[in-house]
Parts: sequence; structure tokens; C-alpha cells
Amino acid sequence: MILSGNRIIVSATLRQQILEALHAAHQGVSSMCVCAADSVYWLNISIDIQRINDNCTHCHRIAKFNDMQPPFNAAPPEYTFHKITSDYFTHKNHDYVVVVDRYSNWPMVFQVNGADGLIKHLREVFVTFGVPEELTSDGGPQFTAGRISSDHGESTITLPLLPTFMPTAEKNCS
Ligand SMILES: [Zn+2]
Repeated sequence: MILSGNRIIVSATLRQQILEALHAAHQGVSSMCVCAADSVYWLNISIDIQRINDNCTHCHRIAKFNDMQPPFNAAPPEYTFHKITSDYFTHKNHDYVVVVDRYSNWPMVFQVNGADGLIKHLREVFVTFGVPEELTSDGGPQFTAGRISSDHGESTITLPLLPTFMPTAEKNCS
């Protein structure tokens, strides 16, 4: 076994097997590249990753679905709490929401209990830091329940719920 840094240099006979393992979750070229960058290497690996992705009918179907999503405005935030992003995660049977200011990358984590908990904590964030112009999320059920467009004092919060994106994952994996 030959190592390049922490990455295993894979012989030609094993590359197809590795490619199929990397592609098992159909997560797209970026995710495969991120995964490969931590584990395996061969010359032109990114070309082979692109090829297996291009030849996958399942990925083509997903790509068609994604094409129907509204275009995402990736303009960067101009000041703190101009644009925030949020997502849920579960740890040891407790639900949490993480809210990140996209300008400073300042993260806040709250333990929550369903969509009501989300609204409560978003309100706290808005009262403390101001109402952002944009909130991005993965569009999970807590975010799409319509409750985010609820009264906030005298005004109504109506935030465009946009899909998250991962510009840092778009790096070359060679
Ligand atoms: Zn696929």
C-alpha cells in the first residue's frame, strides 16, 4: 500500500471499485471529491469521478429535479446578520437548530422542540441582532410549515426560504 499524505494511492485495477463506493450515495461530484480528498488518490481521479457521475441515470434524474428549483442568489452578505442560514440536527435524542450569520460565520445553537421552538429561537435572534433580509435552510418541515411568516411585533417576517449551498465543497479533489 502506498500513501500520499493520508491518502491511499489506488492501483488501476481497484479504481472502478473505489469509484462505485464513492458514488454509492449519489451525492454528486462535489461530495465525492470531498470524500476522496480525505482518503484516496490517483492521477486524474477528478476526471474519473466526473465520468461515473455523468454516466449515472439516477444522478441524471436528480439533476433534472434540481433544475426545477428556483435559482439561488449567491450574492454575499454585506454586513452582520444581513443573511443567515439555519439547519436542524439531532444529538443524543435531542433536536437542535443551528443558526449561522453568513457574514461573520458566527454560529448559535439552540435546543428546540418542533417548529414552535424554531420560531421562538429565531425571534430571539431577530430581536437581538435584527431581522435578516435572507434566511436560507434546507427546506425541512420545520422551515416549510409556513410558521416563519408569522407576526413579529408590529411587522410580519416574511423571509425567502432558499436552499443551502456549499461553495467550499466545489474544490478540486486532485
Ligand atoms: Zn448516481
